[in-house]
Amino acid sequence: MSDGLPFDKFKEECGVFAVYGHPEAANLAHLGLHALQHRGQESAGISASDGKMVYTHKSMGHAADIFTAGVLNRLPGHMAIGHTRYSTAGDTAILNAQPFSVDCHKGKIAVAHNGNITNARELRRDLELAGSIFQASSDTEVVLHLVARSGQPTLETALREALLELDGAYSLVFLAGDRVIVARDPHGFRPLAIGRMNLPSGPAYVFASETCAFDLIDAHHIGDVEPGEMVIAGPQGLTRQYFTPPAKKTSQCVFEHVYFSRPDSVVFGRSVHQSREMMGRLLSQECPVDADVVVPIPDSGVAAALGYSHASGIPFRHGLIRNHYVGRTFIEPSQAIRDFGVRLKLNPVRELLAGKRVILVDDSLVRGTTSQKIVRMVRTAGAKEVHLRISCPPTISPCFYGVDTPTKRELIAANQSVEEIRQFIGCDTLAYLSIEQLTTAVEDTDRRYCYACYTGNYPTPLVNIEDLMNSRPNR
Ligand code: AMP
Repeated sequence: MSDGLPFDKFKEECGVFAVYGHPEAANLAHLGLHALQHRGQESAGISASDGKMVYTHKSMGHAADIFTAGVLNRLPGHMAIGHTRYSTAGDTAILNAQPFSVDCHKGKIAVAHNGNITNARELRRDLELAGSIFQASSDTEVVLHLVARSGQPTLETALREALLELDGAYSLVFLAGDRVIVARDPHGFRPLAIGRMNLPSGPAYVFASETCAFDLIDAHHIGDVEPGEMVIAGPQGLTRQYFTPPAKKTSQCVFEHVYFSRPDSVVFGRSVHQSREMMGRLLSQECPVDADVVVPIPDSGVAAALGYSHASGIPFRHGLIRNHYVGRTFIEPSQAIRDFGVRLKLNPVRELLAGKRVILVDDSLVRGTTSQKIVRMVRTAGAKEVHLRISCPPTISPCFYGVDTPTKRELIAANQSVEEIRQFIGCDTLAYLSIEQLTTAVEDTDRRYCYACYTGNYPTPLVNIEDLMNSRPNR
């Protein structure tokens, strides 16, 4: 399943957008954020600039509600960056909303970030000892302080110096003086695509976490920011340079293809829908079961269920209907209404399920609590058998690179066998896609992806790994 209730445990994900050279830059950023809304729904922000001043507006909520015509009118200029995120709950949430901006001796800079800087705590401690004062608890603010303190003569070289200090995952977009600068960490954990718009006045350049943002604004996807690359869109057009050599082995996040990105996006050069459908096909070959219907857990299970159905010949049915209008304002009645949270989002189509042997397909299983409720719901609707198929391997280790997973203690597959999980969830059979087949589904022939959440092998050194395992990333 996906965003909204009852998944308030997942709070770290973000989407970024940037545009250079368009007279309605803030408007485009707003549309871009709307397309990237699935990457984080708690706060959104835009900084716009005419090359001299930086104007920022950020607030809690969805982009479409925040950026009214009045607000957008107060964000003039031909360049803009935008950010949408889940944030930590409580009073500090708005303080951590992005973009962050600073006015330092290098000029006015604003930044928005997708990913997790794994040495942020150490960098922050050093910066604070040297006198920097932080306003938020976000790792992204560290980048601005590093730039502000740099002895380098230009913004570009100061940025480069700052980036070289960072470990972990970052797809960053900056408003930097009269240009937009974007950069991607040398491992390439998180995506960052480049688009171009042809205007009568010349080209405009756009950057986004996912290409679905380009479709909405009629921009052409012309490639990706490469791992270790910095791309500058400015008065001279587009210039590209490596600020550091890409890592020997890149580590693109496979979970972008499993769950996080929209299926209509091309991520890391591959269609997300294609990957998911292939995951479903391979899952049906690896874990077949005799049944009457294949039912996706919407929306995230749909493409894999289609693949499962095609490969197995078992009919695909929309046996669960999702309500897309679930906000966060519902108050659960104290009287016993069981599974209220899941029922707000999903309702079974009894006619499709009653008396049937059902294969339920979902993209992932994290704590197992949602699946348990869904299986119960499908049984109550009259299903004779329920077979759960998961289109990725068991999630056994937290992510420290920008996907918010719970602690290892809370990850059901880190602590229980598949049979124990099956019993907890209450399904007749349970099976996951193997890591080998996941690799095939994303066409990872030369191991360019990160699978750490399924293997526990992290591609970068992590300071205080034990602490990290038991705490939530600080974003
Ligand atoms: P559970 O096993 O109950 O913890 O929840 C699993 C459900 O959460 C699956 O339907 C996934 O689609 C969804 N899910 C998995 N990872 C995430 C994430 N990082 N953010 C939001 N939802 C997620």
